[in-house]
Amino acid sequence: MTARLRTAKTTATPREPAVPKRRAPRPRKDPAASTDTPTGALDAAEVEEAFRRLRDHMPGRTATAKGPKDQPDPFRSAVSCLLSAQSRDVNTAAAVDNLFALATTPDAMLMLGEDEIARAIRPCGLYNMKARSIRRLCTALIEEHDRVVPQDRAGLMSLPGIGRKCADIVMSFTFDEDVIAVDTHVDRVCNRTGITAAKTADRTAEQLERRAPDWARRDGHFWLIQFGKAVCHARKPACDSCFLNDLCRWFSATRAGEPGAS
Ligand code: SF4
Repeated sequence: MTARLRTAKTTATPREPAVPKRRAPRPRKDPAASTDTPTGALDAAEVEEAFRRLRDHMPGRTATAKGPKDQPDPFRSAVSCLLSAQSRDVNTAAAVDNLFALATTPDAMLMLGEDEIARAIRPCGLYNMKARSIRRLCTALIEEHDRVVPQDRAGLMSLPGIGRKCADIVMSFTFDEDVIAVDTHVDRVCNRTGITAAKTADRTAEQLERRAPDWARRDGHFWLIQFGKAVCHARKPACDSCFLNDLCRWFSATRAGEPGAS
């Protein structure tokens, strides 16, 4: 018995090294995702042509009333942007005027207290939530930024209440950077035409940053916003007379071939 055990022990087959299991193949990426053309979007030459026509037909930064001089104070600009969420321009302006009549610096604004801030900004709606955000913004500026509003996108977006849209608006209007800020008009126009193919405004902004020609970055926001107000309306876009309709993805998908469509 002992001998048999000994024999069995000495003749045991050494354990084979474990064969690594084969991993399931990874799902293949959408080929368009690895290029600069998102699926369904215009190609680079078409994007360039679309911006060329927008430049030729729409007023740019210098021809519009709004510009960096309107918001020379970065703190006021950041607060205005925070207050503009879901508020009409006229109501936002009233709220900003009320608030800055009481305090003009982060320290002074914190001295007001949340209720007083909320009362001042009541015209722009969501005032309790926005009052809390303003206090958090002031605290972050004091504690983390030496009371200076950051000039770069990452710094701005690190502030409470400031998302990508606000950051780009502050960069463009206050710091005079060549940035195409994406508001509701810009988002709609870009994704109808196919300049971008994105489901959120932040994704639109990211794609625009990659896709817009360099020469279009300074005035692009202004061309797109004017085009969205004058031609590519939210409810009833003027497609038949639109100077982009031969390029527009939305038009070719929904309107081309209809009687009267050019
Ligand atoms: S064709 Fe119509 S949907 Fe397309 S950009 Fe022009 S107005 Fe907008």
